[in-house]
This record gives sequence, C-alpha cells and structure tokens, in this order.
Amino acid sequence: MVKEKRVNNKSLFLCEMCGLGYLEKETAEKCEEWCKKTGTCSIEITKKAVYLPDPFQKTSK
Ligand SMILES: [Zn+2]
Repeated sequence: MVKEKRVNNKSLFLCEMCGLGYLEKETAEKCEEWCKKTGTCSIEITKKAVYLPDPFQKTSK
C-alpha cells in the first residue's frame, strides 16, 4: 500500500517497499508494484522520486 506523507505542506506518496516519495500516487504505485515484483527499484521510476527517506541516504551498516 502506498503511503501518503505531508512534507512542507505538500502531499507525497511513498512506495512502501523502498520508501521513495513521489508527487503522483500513480507513480508511487508503479514503483511499489515494481519493487514487489523484482525486489529492486526501476531507475526509470526512481528518477521521478522527489523524496528520499533518511535510511536511503545513509549506509546503515
Ligand atoms: Zn519502490
């Protein structure tokens, strides 16, 4: 399920699998579908991402 998140008074839609945020729900849904199916992100889709969650930017290990 795509999650909605408010950032700076804007609604973003987050892919639940990779956590990337998109302006359009449709794009987030596409990303999530892709992530679930392939276990990886599609560069075609993730280049549209406007929000990166913190763990995504840092290396946690
Ligand atoms: Zn994703």
